[in-house]
Amino acid sequence: MLDFKTVISVGAASLVSIQAAPHKSGKTAQITPNIILIYMDDMGYGDIGRTGAADYLTPNLDLLAEEGMQFTWFYCPQAVSSASRAGLLTGCYPNRIGISGALFPWSTTGINSEETTIAELLKTKGYRTGITGKWHLGHQEKFLPLRHGFDEYYGLPYSNDMWPINFDGTPFTEVDMSIFRSRCPVLPLLEGNEKIAEIRTLADQDKLTTDYTQKALNFIETSKDQPFFLYMAHSMPHVPLGVSDKFRGKSGQGLYGDVIMEIDWSVGEIMKSLEKNGLTENTLIIFTSDNGPWLNYGNNAGSAGGLREGKSTSWEGGQRVPCIMRWPGVIPKGSVCNKLASSIDILPTLAAITGADLPAHKIDGVNILPLLQGNKDIVPRHEFYYYYQENDLEAVQQDHWKLVFPHSSQSYENQLPGNDGWPGPLGRKTVENPELYDLRRDPGERYNVIKLYPDKVKELGIVAEKARKDLGDNLTNNPGSNRRKPGSVK
Ligand code: MG
Repeated sequence: MLDFKTVISVGAASLVSIQAAPHKSGKTAQITPNIILIYMDDMGYGDIGRTGAADYLTPNLDLLAEEGMQFTWFYCPQAVSSASRAGLLTGCYPNRIGISGALFPWSTTGINSEETTIAELLKTKGYRTGITGKWHLGHQEKFLPLRHGFDEYYGLPYSNDMWPINFDGTPFTEVDMSIFRSRCPVLPLLEGNEKIAEIRTLADQDKLTTDYTQKALNFIETSKDQPFFLYMAHSMPHVPLGVSDKFRGKSGQGLYGDVIMEIDWSVGEIMKSLEKNGLTENTLIIFTSDNGPWLNYGNNAGSAGGLREGKSTSWEGGQRVPCIMRWPGVIPKGSVCNKLASSIDILPTLAAITGADLPAHKIDGVNILPLLQGNKDIVPRHEFYYYYQENDLEAVQQDHWKLVFPHSSQSYENQLPGNDGWPGPLGRKTVENPELYDLRRDPGERYNVIKLYPDKVKELGIVAEKARKDLGDNLTNNPGSNRRKPGSVK
């Protein structure tokens, strides 16, 4: 077995050598770095300093990138909360495991106990596992983190706007069960499986980022003597925005900028804690977001950095998210990865690093460890499927080409301030005919080049047929043959 210290002591030449010891599963690595996965809620591609954030600074995220790798072409599995988290934690397209959109406080489904989460996978290698923040894979006990591989849990069971409070902080009193907020109970804060407090006011929301950070720091302190996996799933910058007094009014971009500054501070506190405990070298930090900005909320939403549209769409602004990884001695310092990757690739990558067995059932992620190691020749992922709604295949990608199929899409015009987000009236802009985009030249998806490249359309059509056969596609009435069911309660 190769220990981590050996890897880092021989420097850059050894970057591929963590694959030295063969494993009976065919995977090869045998080390157990600590893993910290920081997952933002609705942070857009353009919301960090490295990708053009304006009127506020993100010095700690900048430092993380300077000491690690920035991914420029990294996709969330689907541009909405529960689906994205399901994909992240299981390494599957969320529609494969029966999770779509956002679960509600009255939902009767959640993650199936037959699925393997990253936490469960790492438990087989002796990891201590903890989650701080938003779960959103089912709020009934059988779906909560402690039943899916986590030793500890502190946070909200679903989104922070699923509460009976208006955006000005006043109680929502209208009794109309067709209105989203009428149906939401008081927002519970959970520790383990128990409700320990209620989030009832905007002032309560203001405390979340600092509270989560403190819990995360405690987890690091108490886990430092064994390998640990910390999943830090911030509730911010999802509306309603909340920020502590130490950052209120500090950015030049209103409350949204203040919130991102506090997130950046939180990342810095975690980096400091690792340094203090001598864990910096042996810890892989992954920072990314569940989906792009929720543009409905105008100045309370983030920026997709010039990409098209945002959350709740399969356009690049919804699916392409910021991503930074740092692992000193393995990830080359200050590097940039322009290759295609997705958060569904994290699970198989962690399996490759630790030597853990992959789940027995089919997953969709691929091992991107060679990308982390700075290998420029290997291309682990050539294709990506853009599913939305329950099971609509809205687009497919092969390398830098993206073929968009006719579908009803939430349009930017209907996401402007004044609309109260879902489940209010979302405008749907229809894509009438297939469109083709060359994302290498046109990441903003402004120029439909379908007439210029008929051969590409054919090639991408084959990719789409493969997806439909396997995962199905409601837009073409194809059930698919390899979908699994979510968990459910009566
Ligand atoms: Mg989100």
